[in-house]
Amino acid sequence: MFKVIVDMLLIGCSLSSPPMVSLPWVPDSTDVRMCVTGPVSMTTKILVDRAFNTINAILPPSFQLVPLYRSTEQVQCPLFLHLSVDHHDIDKPAGKCVRKYGVDIYEFVRPYMSYYYYGCNITVNIHLLNRAASFYNVLLHELLHLIGLDHPNPPMLHALISHTVRRDNNKSIIHDNVYKQLSWYDIMTTHFIIARNFPWLWSKLPYPYVTKRYYYLPVSNMTL
Ligand SMILES: [Zn+2]
Repeated sequence: MFKVIVDMLLIGCSLSSPPMVSLPWVPDSTDVRMCVTGPVSMTTKILVDRAFNTINAILPPSFQLVPLYRSTEQVQCPLFLHLSVDHHDIDKPAGKCVRKYGVDIYEFVRPYMSYYYYGCNITVNIHLLNRAASFYNVLLHELLHLIGLDHPNPPMLHALISHTVRRDNNKSIIHDNVYKQLSWYDIMTTHFIIARNFPWLWSKLPYPYVTKRYYYLPVSNMTL
């Protein structure tokens, strides 16, 4: 009987939870630090900061993404944001998040292994996405993947996690001319993950489903 109830609960959870990484998210620390590699122009730096801040606004204050840059600082980088200038193969994805998984071995009464999700290394092709809004929208999408969101199927209208790069018949990028905002769906899913993995932080979340701040840039077609 108990087993049946547990199964029903699990089925209920899988039906109601949005698509996301199934393993617990266990970042290295409460700061998710990323180092940026590749050509970092002033514009790129501003956009990366704004993308991180947009994600920070929907996370508990004690759990924030802190961007660090490739520099003279001797910092350890658990995760990387690679800015690629690959001129070849326009079929390659303009942005990607390569996820990292880890394993812990606990030694209680009976040793067992626990698998967890660690975060991802992000690559954004700034040769393809050489307009500010296009770069920003793809980076924000990849950061949602980092937190653990997966693509909803069917896609959710207006959700950043359903954002795709548009191409014309020659496969050339059609650049975005707006900076997209996180939708209620993106925020709800992020809070779902925080509540699942860090229930003690739930009370510290910003008001559910409402972003604290919105970020716009005055010029949308800056070239990186
Ligand atoms: Zn994606």
